Amino acid sequence: MDPFKIAQKQLDEAAEIMKLDKQAHAILREPKRTLVMNIPVRMSNGRTQTFTGFRVRYNDARGPAKGGIRFHPQESLETVKALAAWMTWKCSLADIPFGGGKGGIICDTKKMNERDLESLSRAYVRALGTDIGPEVDIPAPDVYTTPQIMAWMMDEYMNIVRKSQFGVITGKPVEVWGSEGRMDSTARGGMYIMREAAKMLKITPKKATIAIQGFGNAGRYAFTLSKELFGAKVVAISDSEGGVYDPDGLDIEKLDDAKKKTGSVGGYKGRRSQKISNEELLEQKVDILIPAAIENQVRADNADKVKCKLLLEFANGPVTPEATNILFEKKIVDLPDFLVNSGGVVGSYYEWVQNVTGDYWDTSLFYSKLDKKLTKSFNDTMALQKEYASKGQKINPRMAAYIIAVDRVAKAMKARGWY
Ligand code: NAD
Repeated sequence: MDPFKIAQKQLDEAAEIMKLDKQAHAILREPKRTLVMNIPVRMSNGRTQTFTGFRVRYNDARGPAKGGIRFHPQESLETVKALAAWMTWKCSLADIPFGGGKGGIICDTKKMNERDLESLSRAYVRALGTDIGPEVDIPAPDVYTTPQIMAWMMDEYMNIVRKSQFGVITGKPVEVWGSEGRMDSTARGGMYIMREAAKMLKITPKKATIAIQGFGNAGRYAFTLSKELFGAKVVAISDSEGGVYDPDGLDIEKLDDAKKKTGSVGGYKGRRSQKISNEELLEQKVDILIPAAIENQVRADNADKVKCKLLLEFANGPVTPEATNILFEKKIVDLPDFLVNSGGVVGSYYEWVQNVTGDYWDTSLFYSKLDKKLTKSFNDTMALQKEYASKGQKINPRMAAYIIAVDRVAKAMKARGWY
């Protein structure tokens, strides 16, 4: 299904439950602004190649749009629109003063040298001009874009506006005022949610068993932080090539070693370890399951086999809408992506705050603020779910989070006189 249709369907469902004003609903079903750009770039071979770039400002009633830029061969306007809508709800649920946006370029970075990548990044910013800015629309890295790309984009923007404005983009290298703590803020935020959810479900994290799908930024930090913060036992982990299960718990040095030597964590060797597939990883009998890789992993055809008590969506869209309902029936607490992985955008917000005020924080201040924010989002979501339950209406955590987010944006639009 077209991702934007899914985003609209989710909004429609929330609108019906919360009895959203019809005028507000109509505004929120479509992006505020959609840019499709034709971007010619003189490549290092002397020839001009033309790229298609997108930037969508979905809604900015609560503040400048915020959202990453993807460089991907299959990028499409519909995907960018969906991601921009989800960013609107993510920023609203986290209660940070941003709206939602997203951008992308159809390109294959694996076939480009560094110089061409820099030329394309700068050309994209020239095409956007002042349609981005610290008080307008603030990009960040996403799939196949890096802190280095953010630094080039920031530099190009400053050439255009002839001002030092480090807050134009987040996820920058620390040398150009990226933030300490931002690197692991997605997984760290997810860990704070895990702590609160475990408390609610009476799971003791130190005694809990955990399975993690994915060994990239989100998955690897989920592994190291669950040990560092809680002393928890991760018994299964995987990457795109397969996975490993060990009832005694896995060791990070051995995992890194297996990845280096065999190309996959599946090559791990422990006393009682055994190779498992990605499907088997999702079906392990564990307390906590963390999908931290890609979308559409728990679906109508395998949701019945999931046996955890708590599912934390570190990845974007790992559980399909049909599977969400099946898990809810099975009384598995499935906490949605735009709550669980919102530590990334909250970290970006803190980077922006430091850039625009010029007051730079140490990591302990960064982490304590992150903890407070994520804990509040979790508590708000659970409180609303309870409130509906007390009125006899059962809604899942994803819907509760949606209703909070949509209500805040609708109230901002109302106050501003948009309807
Ligand atoms: P990454 O590219 O660093 O890592 C992805 C991992 O997933 C890799 O280990 C890869 O081997 C694994 N993988 C790929 N295909 C797989 C498959 N079919 N089955 C199992 N594993 C597979 O990406 P990341 O930054 O860790 O992002 C992971 C997810 O988290 C994505 O959905 C992303 O949108 C989401 N997310 C990440 C951040 C962040 O700050 N990194 C923020 C918000 C959301």
